[in-house]
Amino acid sequence: MRTIKYLVVHCTATSQKTAISSIQTYWKKQLGWKMPGYHFIVKPDGEVVSLLPIEQVSNGVKGFNHESINISYIGGVDPKNIPQDNRTLPQKASLLQLLTALKQKFPKAIIQGHRDFPNVKKACPSFDAKKEYQNV
Ligand SMILES: [Zn+2]
Repeated sequence: MRTIKYLVVHCTATSQKTAISSIQTYWKKQLGWKMPGYHFIVKPDGEVVSLLPIEQVSNGVKGFNHESINISYIGGVDPKNIPQDNRTLPQKASLLQLLTALKQKFPKAIIQGHRDFPNVKKACPSFDAKKEYQNV
């Protein structure tokens, strides 16, 4: 296993109705990525979908991917694409459950949002993950 320093929380910055398959197509076709952007994606109904084994490196945070596990919920923007924390209750519950399990596995890892990394000019994940998960 690689060394995990960060458990990073993201949003997809799409409508909550967006299908995971179309997000994956965007990564491959538009961005030319061989690996997915996140290890886990949480659907509005709370289902956690694994896109990549955590032993492998995903494309969540430029410069920090080798030491990160990337987790995202579908959503994070309003209909005008303005950042909005629109997590459903099942999404909130699943995120908490997943982060708790990963933190048990990697006790030294820091839980923070994408926007908490240096020089990130995004609102992702549209809420203060550091604060919300400080006691996990
Ligand atoms: Zn992000």
